[in-house]
Amino acid sequence: MSIQEVIQTIENRYPHQPEFIQAVKEVASSIGSAYDSNPNYAKLKVFERLTEPDRIINFRVNWEDDNGNVQINRGWRVQFSNAIGPYKGGLRFHPTVSESVLKFLGFEQIFKNALTGLPMGGAKGGSDFDPKGKSDNEIRRFCYAFIRELHQYIGKDMDVPAGDIGVGGREVSYMFAMYKNLTHEYEGVLTGKGVGFGGSLIRTEATGYGAVYFLENMIAAQKDTMVGKKVLISGAGNVSLHAAEKATMLGAKVLTVSDSKGTLYDPEGLDQTKIDWLKEQKAQRKPLEEYVQKFGGQWLAGEKPWQFDADVAMPCATQNEVDENDAKKLVEHGVKYIVEGANMPLNIAAIDYVREHQVHYAPGKAANAGGVAVSGLEMSQNSVRQYRTFEELDQQLKNIMKDIHDNAASAAKENGYGDDSYIDYMSGANIAGFKRVADALVAYGVLN
Ligand code: GLU
Repeated sequence: MSIQEVIQTIENRYPHQPEFIQAVKEVASSIGSAYDSNPNYAKLKVFERLTEPDRIINFRVNWEDDNGNVQINRGWRVQFSNAIGPYKGGLRFHPTVSESVLKFLGFEQIFKNALTGLPMGGAKGGSDFDPKGKSDNEIRRFCYAFIRELHQYIGKDMDVPAGDIGVGGREVSYMFAMYKNLTHEYEGVLTGKGVGFGGSLIRTEATGYGAVYFLENMIAAQKDTMVGKKVLISGAGNVSLHAAEKATMLGAKVLTVSDSKGTLYDPEGLDQTKIDWLKEQKAQRKPLEEYVQKFGGQWLAGEKPWQFDADVAMPCATQNEVDENDAKKLVEHGVKYIVEGANMPLNIAAIDYVREHQVHYAPGKAANAGGVAVSGLEMSQNSVRQYRTFEELDQQLKNIMKDIHDNAASAAKENGYGDDSYIDYMSGANIAGFKRVADALVAYGVLN
């Protein structure tokens, strides 16, 4: 089957999974020539194998709310591919979670994890549970119930979940406690644990910091620096605020952050005091707009942050948050670099538009791989029962992000996607990630 035929089959088989189809089409759009370069890929049906998960575990989660009522949610783990390492990827708790969303995230995770150069397969999981407005006790009971169902399918060498939207250190720690309790094993089965009981330093910062390290490399490739660059960031979660922090440390001027209620615009740019305040505000689940009373700037209710002049945009909120209209605004406002902190924040029309306008565009699977990369480092620290220092891990993160950048850039150039002045990072990342996994499948023959 040709790549086109595989896509057709997927569209016919999963018409109700638009996010998954979108993610497959994005990868497919880049890998054509690389696919043809090795006849074994087609012969061993590598693309067909990679677009159907190894398995999907689907379960019901019963838990009790603070009023003593039984609540029921749906839970999943999509184990997509363990071709190059144990299944690895986060858990998302959000009402928009569906099989389509988790399949798109799991599919992306295969290539992202391959790009890190670490031995990790691809997976994703989660629940349609909405953490918003839930008490700490409810979150705890839900996490216990969730992992009670999932625990038999995960393990340090089998499948290693972590956080994603709605799942941070608190949730991972509750789940780790339940896993340990049920199995009597103290092992690195989840990453993003609390530092002090197996968690790695810099894991919390890693996705945001890593995305900025990637940006730094993109800018350096154009013989420029971060200093003075104006940056628009969306979201106000872990990825956004750590991206804002690192960009600010490197001399850039971060003008915006946002949440589901609107955008905060500060023409003076953020500084560490403001970022610390934002972190605290978000941790307490208080409104972003209170920033204006304290530090000035503007609150734009219901608006996205793409309407200001800037050099860089970092969408760090969620999938499909940037559509073609937003992409037009970004180009109009002079944005030259787009770095995806979130997974698939640009829809296909937006990607096409910015690439046609020669905006340097780094897809999430390359730019936000720092989070899972440090998860990989957490796994190795847990295996040898040792901790590395913050400095050591930060240096490793920087090296990994530089390698991802350089590998994506050379794969792009080697396959005719751009030159030194315009590097097509999307194609490069897709090709480099795909080849690593595809070569493993070829070596295995018919088995996964
Ligand atoms: N959820 C994160 C991602 O999208 C991190 C996954 C992990 O650390 O396993 O890559």
